[in-house]
Amino acid sequence: MSNLDTPENAMWRAKARKVADEVLRPLAKKYDELQEYPWEIRDALAEAGLMGAWISPDYGGKAGDTPVLDLCIIVEEIAKADPAIGVLFAVNALGSFPIIVGGTEEQKKRFLPPIARGEKLCAFCLSEKTAGSDAQGLKVRAIAKGEDTWTIHGEKKWTTNGGAADFYTVFAVTDPTSRSRRISAFIVEKDMPGFSIGKVEDKMGIRAVPVVETVFDGVEVRKSHLLGGRAGHGFKHAMATLDRARPGVAAQGMGCAQGALDLATVYSQKRIQFGKPISSFQMVQQMLANMATKTEAARQLVYSCARKIDAGLPNTTKVAAMAKLFATDVAMEVTTDAVQIFGGYGFMRDYPIEKFMRDAKITQIYEGTNQVQRIVVARGILKEADALSHLEEFVPSEEQMIYEED
Ligand SMILES: Cc1cc2nc3c(=O)[nH]c(=O)nc-3n(C[C@H](O)[C@H](O)[C@H](O)COP(=O)(O)OP(=O)(O)OC[C@H]3O[C@@H](n4cnc5c(N)ncnc54)[C@H](O)[C@@H]3O)c2cc1C
Repeated sequence: MSNLDTPENAMWRAKARKVADEVLRPLAKKYDELQEYPWEIRDALAEAGLMGAWISPDYGGKAGDTPVLDLCIIVEEIAKADPAIGVLFAVNALGSFPIIVGGTEEQKKRFLPPIARGEKLCAFCLSEKTAGSDAQGLKVRAIAKGEDTWTIHGEKKWTTNGGAADFYTVFAVTDPTSRSRRISAFIVEKDMPGFSIGKVEDKMGIRAVPVVETVFDGVEVRKSHLLGGRAGHGFKHAMATLDRARPGVAAQGMGCAQGALDLATVYSQKRIQFGKPISSFQMVQQMLANMATKTEAARQLVYSCARKIDAGLPNTTKVAAMAKLFATDVAMEVTTDAVQIFGGYGFMRDYPIEKFMRDAKITQIYEGTNQVQRIVVARGILKEADALSHLEEFVPSEEQMIYEED
C-alpha cells in the first residue's frame, strides 16, 4: 500500500523495485550460499542511482525533501526481494550518518561524495566483544599523540560491511576519566597502516553482507579524521546516528515481512489439500490476515517515524525505537508464519521462504536489541509523564495507598 507516496517517494520506490525484481531476487540464493560480498549487486544499486538517496546534493547526493522516508522506501523494496541486500544497502547510511550528523564541513565534502556515487562503501564500528547493549562500556582506546594526532588500539566486533568498506566510523575511548566526554569518533580509511580485518563471521542469515572483527593496531589518525574536529562527542554522535538509522532497520524488517507474506499468498493459492487450495481454509486465511495486518501496521509506524525525522521534529528517539522494535518483531512473526503456510516445502533450502525467516532474526538483535528498544521507549514515556499531571486526580492518591498504621 503505497498510494500516499509523493512523486519523489514514488520515484525511489520504482527504481528500487526494478533493481530488486530484475537483479536482486534472481541472485539471492547465490550469495546466501557463497557468503561473499556481491559486487555485481553493489554495481547494480549504484547504477540505479540509489546510493546517494540519503545524502544532500550539497555533498554529491540526491536526497530530496524526505531523505529518511526515501531511504526506508528503498530498503523496504530491496528487502522484499532479498532482506540481506536491505542491510547491505542500509549499512552505508549507518556508516555515513555520523559524518552527516557530526562531521565538519571539510569531512562532509571529502567523504560523502564518493559514498553518494557508490564508489566507496562504509561501515559503523561501535560494538566490541564486551560492549554490545552497554555501548558506554567500550574498551578500544584512541591515545592522543601531541595536539592533533591519535593512535587507535583494540578490536571491534561485528562490523557489517567490514572488508568491503573503504571508510569505517570508529568509536573509541579518548578520556577514560570522563563520564560524559569519554568517547570520540574517528573516520578510519581501509588502507591506513595498522588497520586490518580479523575473524570473518559465518552467519545464520544476511549472508550476502560480510560481518567481521576489525583490528586497530596503533592506527594513526589526524584531526582531519576526528569526527567534528572535537574529542569527547562520540557517544552523542553514535546515539544521533542510531536515531536516524533505526527506521532503516525497521524498514528492512517490514520489507522482509512483506516479501514473505507475498510468497505465502501466492503459494497458498497453488497448494491443494483435501481437494482445495489451502487459501480456502479459514485457519490459513486467519494467518494471512494477521500477517498482512501486522505488516501494514509496521509500515505505517516506519513511515510516520521517518516523516517525523524528515520534518526535523525534536525527540524522535522514542518513535525510532518503537518502529525498530515493532517492525522487526513483526518480521520474525510473519516470516515464521509464512514458513508454516509453506508446510514441509517451507523448511527446505530449495525455496527462498526459509531464508526470509533466517534473515529476519538479526533485525531483532542489531542496532540495539528489541529489549534495549523497549528500555528506550519506556524511558521516553516516563520522561514525558509531566504532561499527564492533569490526570493525577483520577488515580489513587499517595495518601490512599498508605497503610493506616504507617
Ligand atoms: C550480524 C550482526 C551484525 C552487526 N553489525 C554491527 C555493526 O555494523 N556495527 C556495530 O557496531 N555493531 C554491530 N552488531 C552488534 C549488535 O548491535 C549487537 O550484537 C547488539 O547491540 C547486542 O549486543 P550483544 O550481542 O553484545 O548482546 P548483549 O548486550 O550481551 O545482550 C544479550 C542479551 O541480553 C539482553 N540485554 C542486555 N542488556 C539488557 C538490559 N539492560 N535489559 C534487558 N535485556 C538486556 C539483550 O537484549 C540480549 O537479549 C552486529 C551484530 C550482529 C550479530
